[in-house]
Amino acid sequence: MAEIRVENLHKSFAAFTAVRDSTFIVPDGDFFCLLGPSGCGKTTTLRMIAGLELPTSGRILLGGEDVTFKRASQRDIAFVFQLFALYPHMNVRTNIAYPLRSQAMLRDDVNRRVDEAARILRITHLLDRSVSGLSSGDRQRVALGRAIVREPLAFLLDEPLGALDAEFRDVMCGELRALHDRLKATTVYVTHDQLEAMAMADTIALMNQGMVEQLGTPQDIYDRPASLFVADFIGSPPMNFLPFPGRVAPGDRTVRVNNVDIALPEIREGTEDAELVLGVRPEHIELSDDSSLRAEVIDAEYLGTTQIVTLSMTAGASVKARIPASIHVQPGEHTGLSFQPGLLSLFDRASGRALRTALHDESTHG
Ligand code: ATP
Repeated sequence: MAEIRVENLHKSFAAFTAVRDSTFIVPDGDFFCLLGPSGCGKTTTLRMIAGLELPTSGRILLGGEDVTFKRASQRDIAFVFQLFALYPHMNVRTNIAYPLRSQAMLRDDVNRRVDEAARILRITHLLDRSVSGLSSGDRQRVALGRAIVREPLAFLLDEPLGALDAEFRDVMCGELRALHDRLKATTVYVTHDQLEAMAMADTIALMNQGMVEQLGTPQDIYDRPASLFVADFIGSPPMNFLPFPGRVAPGDRTVRVNNVDIALPEIREGTEDAELVLGVRPEHIELSDDSSLRAEVIDAEYLGTTQIVTLSMTAGASVKARIPASIHVQPGEHTGLSFQPGLLSLFDRASGRALRTALHDESTHG
């Protein structure tokens, strides 16, 4: 297995820039997710790592070797796509064995590797079946088997679960992570689905318009979003944003929103801008009659153990709070809101950048 190093990677298609100045390291054995909205450059980045697309500039190193200008076939990497293209006229065993047969490997060695891959993926009983009658989950396992048998330096997966229905996707997420824990293979996984990335990744690179907006563990990215974009993309419902006029100075521990002082983790950098945004996740809001930050309940969505309550604040902003379902709320009711101070984020509105706070200093990535 091997580390993948991406340095100042840039890709333009005529006048359009799909990937700009992307730099990151996928540590040896890491499960690394390229996450972001449609069109942000995830697949293009993956295709450059695979050798299916040449970068406009920048370098790619695989296990310390510069492979930037090597063909896909010269890179010891296995690729699994969303549309798992299996050979319909071959059975499962022949499909899985295909990459080894094309390397002219001895028949006994091929059989040994195919049997081992099938055992890991729990499809031994399907080996003699035709692929055409298989369920989509089993077809995906066969596609993974074809990648595993090669024992490559790294796996690249592009939305491999995208064609599966939601329930089965959850199962396959668990299986893929378990497979990774067993093989400990360096893996780069492309998805637009934050839940998949949060569930499986050791490291997430969240991309936006061709750039890596934040690099970190799922918890870093959730707890300490580097920008408004990240805070908005991750979390369901997403973080609430309360814009307010104001400046902060290093050492400040409060901000004044709607004439109410709100406690924050200590601010480590000041700003000249007069527009700030306070970010609070729905689960970090409590309804409390003691608070002078007032709001009216608009509606409540019951989710079993919790409920999502939509509240309208005096300045016209609305927020969503995730609170226990056992708390009774009524549309039209007025209540106070309190926020857990250690978990608030503060952003500069113009740049969208998070201002550094004591909370951010706990971060080890990005
Ligand atoms: P999606 O999941 O929708 O594919 P993505 O993040 O993987 O999103 P890419 O496929 O990397 O995005 O595409 C990034 C941008 O580059 C898109 O706007 C896409 O239209 C453009 N693009 C990709 N390949 C080409 C190409 N060969 N020629 C021109 N533009 C391209």
